[in-house]
Amino acid sequence: MASLNVPTTTEFSAPYAPEDDALAAALVREAGLPEAAERAVDRTARRLIEAIRTTRHPFGSIDELLQEFSLSTREGLALMVLAEALLRVPDRATTDEFIEDKLREGDFVHHVTKSQALFVNASAWALGVTSQVVQGGETPQEVVAALTKRVGMPIVRAAMRRAMRVMGDHFVLGETIDAALARSREHTNTTQRYSFDMLGEGARTAADAARYFDAYAAAIDAIGASAGGERLPARPGISVKLSALYPRYEATCRERVLKELAPRLLDLARRAKGFDLNLTVDAEEADRLELSLDVIAAVLADSSLSGWDGFGLAVQAYQKRAAAVIDYVDELARARRRRLMVRLVKGAYWDTEVKRAQERGLDGYPVFTLKAMTDLNYLACARKLVALKPRLFAQFATHNALTVASVLEVAGAAWGDFEFQRLHGMGDALYARLAEDFPQAAVRTYAPVGSHRDLLAYLVRRLLENGANSSFVAAVGDATRPVEELLMRPAAIVRGLPHARPDWLPLPADLYAPARKNSRGVEFGHRASLDALLAEVARESRSPVVPAPANDADAAMAAAARGFAAWNATPAETRAAALDRAADLIEARRGRLIALMQSEAGKTLDDCVSEVREAADLCRYYAAEGRALFGPPQALPGPTGETNSLVMRGRGAWVAIAPWNFPLAIFTGQIAAALMAGNSVVAKPAEQTPLIGAEAVRILHEAGVPATALHLVTGDGRTGARLVAHDAVAGVVFTGSTEVARSINRALAAKEGPIVPLIAETGGINAMIVDATALPEQVTDDVVASAFRSAGQRCSSLRLLCLQDEIADTTIAMIAGAAREMKVGDPREIDTAIGPLIDADSFERITAHIARAKRVRFAGTAEMRGGFYLPPHIIELASPDELTEEIFGPVLHVVRYKAAELPQLLDAIDRKGFGLTLGVHSRISSHIERIVARMPTGNIYVNRNMIGAVVGTQPFGGGGLSGTGPKAGGPNYLRRFATEQVVTINTAAAGGNASLLARER
Ligand SMILES: Cc1cc2nc3c(=O)[nH]c(=O)nc-3n(C[C@H](O)[C@H](O)[C@H](O)COP(=O)(O)OP(=O)(O)OC[C@H]3O[C@@H](n4cnc5c(N)ncnc54)[C@H](O)[C@@H]3O)c2cc1C
Repeated sequence: MASLNVPTTTEFSAPYAPEDDALAAALVREAGLPEAAERAVDRTARRLIEAIRTTRHPFGSIDELLQEFSLSTREGLALMVLAEALLRVPDRATTDEFIEDKLREGDFVHHVTKSQALFVNASAWALGVTSQVVQGGETPQEVVAALTKRVGMPIVRAAMRRAMRVMGDHFVLGETIDAALARSREHTNTTQRYSFDMLGEGARTAADAARYFDAYAAAIDAIGASAGGERLPARPGISVKLSALYPRYEATCRERVLKELAPRLLDLARRAKGFDLNLTVDAEEADRLELSLDVIAAVLADSSLSGWDGFGLAVQAYQKRAAAVIDYVDELARARRRRLMVRLVKGAYWDTEVKRAQERGLDGYPVFTLKAMTDLNYLACARKLVALKPRLFAQFATHNALTVASVLEVAGAAWGDFEFQRLHGMGDALYARLAEDFPQAAVRTYAPVGSHRDLLAYLVRRLLENGANSSFVAAVGDATRPVEELLMRPAAIVRGLPHARPDWLPLPADLYAPARKNSRGVEFGHRASLDALLAEVARESRSPVVPAPANDADAAMAAAARGFAAWNATPAETRAAALDRAADLIEARRGRLIALMQSEAGKTLDDCVSEVREAADLCRYYAAEGRALFGPPQALPGPTGETNSLVMRGRGAWVAIAPWNFPLAIFTGQIAAALMAGNSVVAKPAEQTPLIGAEAVRILHEAGVPATALHLVTGDGRTGARLVAHDAVAGVVFTGSTEVARSINRALAAKEGPIVPLIAETGGINAMIVDATALPEQVTDDVVASAFRSAGQRCSSLRLLCLQDEIADTTIAMIAGAAREMKVGDPREIDTAIGPLIDADSFERITAHIARAKRVRFAGTAEMRGGFYLPPHIIELASPDELTEEIFGPVLHVVRYKAAELPQLLDAIDRKGFGLTLGVHSRISSHIERIVARMPTGNIYVNRNMIGAVVGTQPFGGGGLSGTGPKAGGPNYLRRFATEQVVTINTAAAGGNASLLARER
């Protein structure tokens, strides 16, 4: 593998998610071509649209099929899910169940086709008929149904698999590079070019990365060997995904990425140079943009590539930073005195980007959220690229006729300095007409190569692209949409709107508006934000630690009891405002809190950021809930002549006992809820994390909670027991082990006086059930996060992974491979994925458990020696019954199950008596419904990881041995801290019912 010196080129930097309206104003100002050019755009676009609308494959095409089953229909969605998973399911029973499920979800039987095409009608008919077979439905086509019923499920299964393969074949040029090259040769000439793409998900393991590297290298050799005598840019090329070349291609692993991934790309680039091919780095997620540019800059700096003009990269116009990226690429091209190729796309991950920005609580979206803004930016970037020729060679990738027509005007007659690009299987009619009208325009086809199994994720993106209402391909296929609508210029659309953002899509900060502000996150993929955070943490870690005062437990309880009345009498609005201020302070002091959590609790940076956010969210959530609950009395219905009203009030002095694993969020959340309800509180942080607890209490005091209402007591379990035993206790809120919860319960029950509430949240033996329809890469990501993140020290962490037999070995191998890539070490280093266990006790207990295990399938390695660093482990068990206790560390237990034995598996999980979190990975809806109906588990997560419950979105807490409820961060939590009072006033007592008599009608 090549070695590489990291270059000194300036780093790319640009605002990550700037405000839309300002960008729109600038883009609209610069948009617009001379009038004659606009007329030419109309003419060209019309002709292209006409060609698309009138060219019909005699038997119909896949595009038509996809339009028929558009994604806004249940049938279309069912078809997409089938396409995504069917070909990877290994066993028949699951295949049949899956097909039945999807055919039931869509109303294929009554689907009336609009298409004239035989292929589309035949497919619709087949889907309708097969769904009848499955449902045995009584429909008008009974005769056909009777016939196909006799045919039976095996034929349906074969037919469906065949149908998915047909879809796959449409979008993939060949299953191997040789087959793809053979097929491409039929179409290659000076204006028809190819860029080959090796299909696959991103690498999760070192083995995956090595396999992808070999596939790319072999493909380059094969493409090079078969290339003709043409010169760049007319020569063929390859497209490379950096995420395929390295399993931890993430911003926090920048050093490793530059050290290990960049040389791999350099190696491929040298090979491509050897054949004078075009090598393009595909554009991926927005948070990887800076990292990708770092890698590219490092590779380009290598002198072995000098003299080669084939290196390129894709730029996404939906990203607000697109223009800045082009400027940066131009800078690189100047610095290296070389031509670079730039493929301008709109971007393939729009839906994912929007979701991520919301989840991460970013200030804004890194992508435009109006389709017209993306189109507008695309044209602005096109102009920029054209202006930078010949240093940059522009490659315009689009299937939008208006975009093509506009680009033709922008680019003018400089035919040698740009090309169009299209995806194999899409845009055939458009580009056929373009070739007729503009034979000089070069077109490169992006040609995916890979087996059917590897094509699924790609296929789904294409289905989304073809089926989404917002896409041009879908619009042009809908004959009811007039051509004029398709010719509307993006600038005109934007100008006609009040804002350059759709009003239905809130900014991440407003996700919970108007009730409350969402907490602010940090985008680690934006170096400036990450650096600012790291600087804050570094500064705070040097500042002196303020010790926690040692209050006496009994004295604190007595003081809290005295402080109750005044706080309870404080208006709810005042209490809520104090919590809102506390949330703001928590966010403002994130550096200090993170520094403390890292040093005292051994937490990694991403865990710390999430925890700061959760603590702030909890304060704001309880404030918002509390305003409604503890505000004006609620009037109750009743007879005339009296008023009845219900008020909620505090109970007295509460004891809040929090664990060390969420020393800020759980601690603050317990206190905030109790305070909001009008209670005074004595709060005891875990003995391992008193400094964080003390800091949280200081913040609450500073925010306006009187010292008489909130008291801090530090100490171990004995101090907790003293608090619980005090006569003044009006309630206890506790998070920790089931044993301690039981002992608190006994202590409270043994006391004379009022019977007070206990809210306990305890542990769980949390399971995840994965069937054969699940996507292994997604399962791997979710298992690794759920089982190993936070060193497995979350109540919600995955302990028992249940894998369907047929997929167990491959899945375990992938999870182990991904776990091997997790750095176990000092949590203050940003690339650390797993920090230490909390203390020696924990370390000894868990290592002893591992030592007793009969079948350790995987044992990772820790970079840190000494301390309580425990690398991830995977232990295989013969039955779920073998796991009898919660192992609070990075240890994943795995069992296999047979599809037919799912009910017994669920019984076995339920028998354990816990019920905190459960994960399910499956594409079969009926299967998911069955599990959800059967299991009483508190939080069930489907097709995602099972940690990181979000306040107000996933209220958290379980039943059985896992806790008493109500759920923290949920709508019923505050009520448990309060007591109710009803006041009835006989308003007719003094002299009669005046208000009744006063009514006229
Ligand atoms: C040759 C080729 C290579 C490609 N390589 C890449 C690549 O490396 N990386 C990559 O990400 N994609 C890549 N793509 C996919 C590409 O992003 C999509 O094909 C493209 O976005 C579709 O654009 P269009 O002009 O054909 O269609 P249009 O229908 O005009 O545009 C659809 C696009 O608009 C954007 N959009 C949709 N809704 C909204 C909204 N509400 N707000 C803002 N924007 C919205 C999205 O980007 C969507 O894909 C490639 C495509 C081609 C043809």
